[in-house]
This record gives sequence, C-alpha cells and structure tokens, in this order.
Amino acid sequence: MSAEQRDPALAALGEFGLIGRIRERVRVRHPGTLVGIGDDAALLGLEAGNRFLVTTDMLLEGVHFQWSWGCVRELGRKAVAVNVSDIAAMGGQPRYALLGVAIPPTGLSLGGLDALLAGMEEEAEVHGVTLVGGDTCASRSGLVLSVTLIGLPPDTGPILRSGARPGDGVWVTGALGGAAGGLLALDGGFRPGAPWPATLARPGWAGASEEAALRAALAAHLTPVPRVAAGRALAGRATAMIDVSDGVASDAGHLAAESHLGLRIHARELPIHPGATVAARLAGRDALDLALRGGEDYELLFTAAADPRPALAEAAPGLPVTRIGEVMAETGPPVLVHPDGRTEPLTGGFDHLRTAP
Ligand code: ADP
Ligand code: MG
Repeated sequence: MSAEQRDPALAALGEFGLIGRIRERVRVRHPGTLVGIGDDAALLGLEAGNRFLVTTDMLLEGVHFQWSWGCVRELGRKAVAVNVSDIAAMGGQPRYALLGVAIPPTGLSLGGLDALLAGMEEEAEVHGVTLVGGDTCASRSGLVLSVTLIGLPPDTGPILRSGARPGDGVWVTGALGGAAGGLLALDGGFRPGAPWPATLARPGWAGASEEAALRAALAAHLTPVPRVAAGRALAGRATAMIDVSDGVASDAGHLAAESHLGLRIHARELPIHPGATVAARLAGRDALDLALRGGEDYELLFTAAADPRPALAEAAPGLPVTRIGEVMAETGPPVLVHPDGRTEPLTGGFDHLRTAP
C-alpha cells in the first residue's frame, strides 16, 4: 500500500493540490455560503428561522459499488442524490454539502476523480446544492465517499416517521425494485450504453422492450432520482414519511415502529419496476422480493389521510403515486396481504450488519 501504486498524477497533485482542484471546480449556488471551501470550517448564513436538517450517507467501494462497473461519474451523482433523498424524505430543501473522501491506493486515477467531482457537481446543480467543505484522506483499501448534507425544513415543519394515524393510506412514489433489478443486471455484465453482454445468453422472451426495461433499471440503480419536489409538496399533507433506501419491507417497518402503529401492504398494489420483473426472470429471482427487499430505490413511502395525488400531479408532474396499503391501529410489524387474501408479517430488507455480503 505505498504511494508508488497511486496514479502518479494524483500523487503529484497531493492532498492540498486536490483540495485546490475541488475548490476550483465547485460553483457557489447560494449566497448563504459566507465562507466555503478553504478555511477551517465553513460559515453558512441560514434562512427560515433557526432550524436546519442535516444528514450523512456513505458510499463504499465493494459495498455500494464496484470499479468494474466503470461508472464513476454516476457514483458522484449518487453520492449527492442519496443524501438529497434523506432531506426530501423530511419534506425539506437541500442547500449545502460536505464531502469526506478516502482515496484508495489503486483504482482511482486523477481523471476518475475529476469524473467523480463532475458527477457530484451535476447532481448539486440539479438541486441547488453548494459543496462548502469536506476532508480528504488516503485509504488503505477501497474508495470511501461520505457526503453530509444540510437542508431547510418546510415552513409547516419536517415530515417525521412518527406521525402516521390509524386509517391513513400508505402511498409510494415511482416504482419499486428497479435499483435491485439494475444491480442484478450489473452483476450479469450489463453496462450503460453497451450491448447485451456476450457472457449472458439472451432468452427468446427477452425482446427490445425487455432490454429497455433492464436499462431503465440500470439507471435506477446508478443514478437514482431523489423526489425533492414531491417531498416538499407533501409537507402539511403527509402524516409520516421515509425514503425507500433499504426496501419497503424494512422502511415500512420503520414508519410503523416510529408511529407505534401497524401497516397493511397489499402485494397486488405494489408498483413493481418493469426492469425488476425482467431482471428477476433472467436471474431466477422473485420480482416481488426485489420490490419489497431490494432497496436503493429512493422513492418516498408516506402515509396521508387524504388523496395526495392532486397536489403531487402539480408539484411533480408525471411521477406515479400509488396507494399500497393502510395504517392500522394495532401495533406490530407490517403485514403483507397476498392477492388470495393470505397474510404474512412483512420482514427483511437490506441491513448492513445482517445481510450477507
Ligand atoms: P483542516 O486541516 O483545518 O481540517 P483541511 O486541510 O482538511 O483543513 O481542509 C482545508 C479546506 O478544504 C477546508 O475548508 C475543508 O473543508 C476543505 N476540504 C478538504 N477536503 C475536501 C473535500 N474532499 N471536498 C471539499 N472540501 C474539502
Ligand atoms: Mg480537515
């Protein structure tokens, strides 16, 4: 693990050269950035009273992504997007980001770092986020990215996990299982923009529309779209909300536990991503399982007393919103209702300490 293995251009740049390079590339998107990158700490002028939202999410080589995917720009986008999604899940607005990066001895070239930063800035631009600081270290093993995001809560107060009430509907934005389907596709050798992998036999049933669905699933995994506009529109409307990072099975459980209530989820109503269906069939997996337990979809799962669709149609046109269940007064783990009426406790979902690597 010596510096000699590192991309020589990166080594020549050095830690402070790299920070300078980041500083040059970062655009200030908000006048509240009173002191950004370059001092011991950033100084931020906050609006909206004296409250702010703050969240951190890490992306680790070998855990969340593989070099073999060759998708470094997408990785930069995702590092920002997954944090934006947590702010969206509170109904908030993202504002400032901090980037902790541990650079591995091999794998990441200077060009790769530039692509990573370009991806981060791309996603930051979409959401009006300014990178105001961070920390840079050498890693002895893989690349580690840790983004911290500061945002503003909605005027009506943040949407917590704990506010669900008996009789509320349970709703979800977008489609489920796409990211898990995309991960299966990546494992099978699919890459964005590349043809069907030569190493994977193409079954007769997999036509152009199936391939398009798989590619949409790839995109869902590599570049998830945080639902900021929908989250903001749900402020004052949703009673409880969470973003689907570990899978509905697990995230619905968090809503139920924090609200001290039960939930019923109807399998028949789940909006399963078409790419999850194709990837499941290719890999001999169950699409319903991918939709419930795959995780990383970054859709919003929320409860509401009234139909949220009129408000969402205006704030997030084209985004599907589906009622998948209801809140029950009895506490306990969520219950999955099968189309034949059979029920089972809804458990599982991704757990970093429990799920086998
Ligand atoms: P200190 O030693 O005082 O903690 P550093 O040398 O770590 O300061 O950082 C110098 C400046 O560069 C700080 O403003 C810090 O926030 C910023 N910085 C360091 N690494 C990064 C990074 N990966 N992304 C953005 N800003 C960074
Ligand atoms: Mg520091």
